[in-house]
Amino acid sequence: MIPVECPRCRHPFAVEYEMRGRADRCPRCATPVPVPADVPAVTRISTAVAIPPYDPHSRPDFDRYLDALADTVARADVFPPTGPAAGLVVTVTLDGGRAAFDLAVTPAAASPDAAAVAGLSAALFAVPVPAVRGGAKAGLAFAVRGGG
Ligand SMILES: [Zn+2]
Repeated sequence: MIPVECPRCRHPFAVEYEMRGRADRCPRCATPVPVPADVPAVTRISTAVAIPPYDPHSRPDFDRYLDALADTVARADVFPPTGPAAGLVVTVTLDGGRAAFDLAVTPAAASPDAAAVAGLSAALFAVPVPAVRGGAKAGLAFAVRGGG
């Protein structure tokens, strides 16, 4: 799915990848909304913070960190240009100034090869970890474009 926003009523919605380069109607006001043709292979669709930082002052740093992780995933290019559409969830856990990552791809058959996953994992670990007292945990969900 591709996230778009209606230019008239600002309603955010998602359209199928097959619509890229075309226009889809806003489900709220029926305005034709252009869908970008050049859609990245991986798009962040949601962020769920399971355990927020204990100190609320460190929340902006944590949110910036999540954005940096999402950029890293989008740039990593771990999914082949052709393949099924898929979902990717990256769960990050911060504890004692260290990060741990869990990567889940659905369906499992769409998982990239082990070398690509190892490369993505290394890129995620290279993102500087913010100082968060008491730890924090969040899940970043991405949609992987199906291609052919
Ligand atoms: Zn609209």
